[in-house]
Amino acid sequence: MDLSKYIANVPDFPKEGIQFKDITPLMQNGAAFKESVNRFVEFAKSVNADVIVGPEARGFIFGCPTAAELGIGFIPVRKPGKLPRETVDFEYDLEYGSNTLSMHVDSIKPNQRVLIVDDLLATGGTVKATIDIVEQLKGQVVGLAFLIELDFLKGRDLFPDYNIMTMLHY
Ligand code: AMP
Repeated sequence: MDLSKYIANVPDFPKEGIQFKDITPLMQNGAAFKESVNRFVEFAKSVNADVIVGPEARGFIFGCPTAAELGIGFIPVRKPGKLPRETVDFEYDLEYGSNTLSMHVDSIKPNQRVLIVDDLLATGGTVKATIDIVEQLKGQVVGLAFLIELDFLKGRDLFPDYNIMTMLHY
């Protein structure tokens, strides 16, 4: 199945010069959504993941059904102030300003095999911060999986030592 047919390209959103990849047509099509989740599931099996970690909010869309299909756990990565118990936070730089991501300190058990799932790999900043927290919590990142990769941003170059799976390249 050609999943690219279900991605809408929206020019100049959320600001001028950005070509936004809208995944909602894919989510709205049961067969396409199922196919994309199947591909995440196959990759998760191939890296023998114990648990899926996904950044808010679109990492949840693919990470949760993948984890449920495999009968393994899903761990959310959230913006600061959202998780109710003790967290580990990581601040990272964006093109303008900075961002912080947060995980519960007890979310990962030492040496657990972690697959990080998100909708799209752009600059890689979000995933780099996620890897940092997972590794602080002594998790072992065994793979990074995305529906879409924006090749021209070269986010992949940040992760030479990680096993990366992407379904669609732009
Ligand atoms: P980055 O940290 O630069 O890799 O950005 C990744 C996050 O930003 C992903 O979780 C995407 O949801 C979102 N994102 C970045 N660029 C785009 C884009 N062109 N279209 C849709 N989402 C994007």
